[in-house]
Amino acid sequence: MRPLAGASLAGIDGLAFDVDDTLTTRGALSPDAYDALARLAAAGVRLVALTGRPLGWADAMASMWPITAAVGENGAGWAWREGHALRIGYADDPVTRAEQRDVLAAIRREVHERLPAIREACDQPARRCDLAFDVGERERPSAADVGALVAIIEAHGARALVSSVHAHAVPGRWDKARGAASAVRDALGEPLDPARWLFVGDSPNDEAAFAFFTHTVGVANVREHLGALRVAPALVTDAERGAGFVEVAEALLRARADG
Ligand SMILES: [Mg+2]
Repeated sequence: MRPLAGASLAGIDGLAFDVDDTLTTRGALSPDAYDALARLAAAGVRLVALTGRPLGWADAMASMWPITAAVGENGAGWAWREGHALRIGYADDPVTRAEQRDVLAAIRREVHERLPAIREACDQPARRCDLAFDVGERERPSAADVGALVAIIEAHGARALVSSVHAHAVPGRWDKARGAASAVRDALGEPLDPARWLFVGDSPNDEAAFAFFTHTVGVANVREHLGALRVAPALVTDAERGAGFVEVAEALLRARADG
């Protein structure tokens, strides 16, 4: 990975970004990170949040932040504003989503019985399409328990996706890259050109986005996860987490001012 400083970011008109430990810092959105979002929006940069957080949270992000759309649950759905109305899209149709809920119920039962130390994520009630377990937010389960959790998820035919805070049971084929493309199509009515967007993230659940977007940046804490990433970001910031996001925003704003 090369440092972000000095990289050419000309020709980029959209920024897709992970939220936890990329935009936020240990769960909090700092004033300077939010200000960076506002300045990017004011400069005409299209912004899409790509998070593993619940779709209920994505609704709030799309409603209140100066962004084009918010993709939640690692691509399971997305929200965007149309005038004062909030619109919502899903990767799968209602019948498929009902079948997926049955798979998640079976996983929940087995984890509850076999891994009593594993707790569901505190944001689970706001989720609609996936099931998230806490592996670093409030709880510190052993590596053996996390391994057993992943095995249970996969035995039920779901994918296991591990971020810095959660292990997700994902019962569909969505990912952050597909979610971004669908959200931009729905919100802007045009296809997402990955060569004109920059993606910034930090962890293994960002891998599909690191592979999809032409221009990719990791905030400095991505280094903690390089061993688990098959596709690494091309560039890396000096600063970690929200301060790293501000660094990306400054570089993009400079490139637009110069261009
Ligand atoms: Mg993250």
